[in-house]
Amino acid sequence: MNTDFSQKDGKIWLDGVLVEWADARAHVLTQGLNYAGSVFEGIRAYEGEAFRLADHIQRFQTSAALMGFKIPYSAEEMESACKTILKHSGLSEAYIRPVAWRGADRLELSQECRVHCAIACLEWTSYFREDGISLQIAKYRKPGPRFAQVQSKTAANYAMPALAKSEAEKAGYDDALMLDDAGYIAEATASNIFLVQRGIVKTSLPAAALAGITRAEILDICRRHDIPCEETNLTIKEVFEADEVFVCGTAAEITAVARVETKSYKCGPLTNFLRSEYLNLVRPSQRSKSGKGESLKYAELLTHSRDERSYDIATDPLIHEAWLRTRNKMDEAADEPAKPQAKRA
Ligand code: PMP
Repeated sequence: MNTDFSQKDGKIWLDGVLVEWADARAHVLTQGLNYAGSVFEGIRAYEGEAFRLADHIQRFQTSAALMGFKIPYSAEEMESACKTILKHSGLSEAYIRPVAWRGADRLELSQECRVHCAIACLEWTSYFREDGISLQIAKYRKPGPRFAQVQSKTAANYAMPALAKSEAEKAGYDDALMLDDAGYIAEATASNIFLVQRGIVKTSLPAAALAGITRAEILDICRRHDIPCEETNLTIKEVFEADEVFVCGTAAEITAVARVETKSYKCGPLTNFLRSEYLNLVRPSQRSKSGKGESLKYAELLTHSRDERSYDIATDPLIHEAWLRTRNKMDEAADEPAKPQAKRA
């Protein structure tokens, strides 16, 4: 996206007041900027209503708590500020970005800083192209719960995914698919991953992946429609053998994956079905068609967040590289016209 987000018309909610867009600044010496001491949220509004606002604000507060600080506003105050800024923007389809960061009270590493908080509301339609995206397998891994606060949307967790996405884009892909430290599939850089294999919908465990709100909605849609679904350790082999692959998230919604490395996929029937159910759910005027409108409890989503991985030789990086090469050869062989079989003497 080529827009300068620091120069727009309108207002931003900053520490409790509405300020001019260009005046919503933080000092260069903030802990947030220097040591990634910040957390953020991404919320979409459809038809003027923020979808799952309470869950996002609860995650915002949890993200800060996991990083050792407290958002200086209650959940009710944050929700009301999001609604105010949405209304003020005049947008009905919008992306709301709350962000909180440790201030510049101290330069040495410390928790003891004033926490600032801002909320911006932007026009944002599609995160990804809609005809299916391509994913490169990133060379960096996502850290698990022994190495990071995986369930916090802290800036600290986005440095390597941002690099992975840039490298993927330079190589001609749309995004990167990241493995976890044990070699299982974690997620894309800012969205969760699903695959469909022989009618079963599968997604990775939220061990090194964020337990996304959209991910939980999709699992819920599957359960309501008796579509078999699993949260499990996913291997790269399963991704290559899948019939359909898609990513999901508040910004990404449900986006089909058209290619992972050399393997191509069609946007299949389950991806299309789940996508249309999800898009009915998020729009207040369509919600009755999906038969569900009540909010999920974010705390309940986290009950699934556990580390159930153990090291598996089949996901060893060297074996995985070999599998990639084998798979490429298999694809090339499948594309070649069949050679006549040699007759046995
Ligand atoms: N994983 C990561 C790393 C993300 O940043 C996001 C976007 N918040 C997701 C998954 C999807 O989460 P959600 O559906 O809650 O937006």
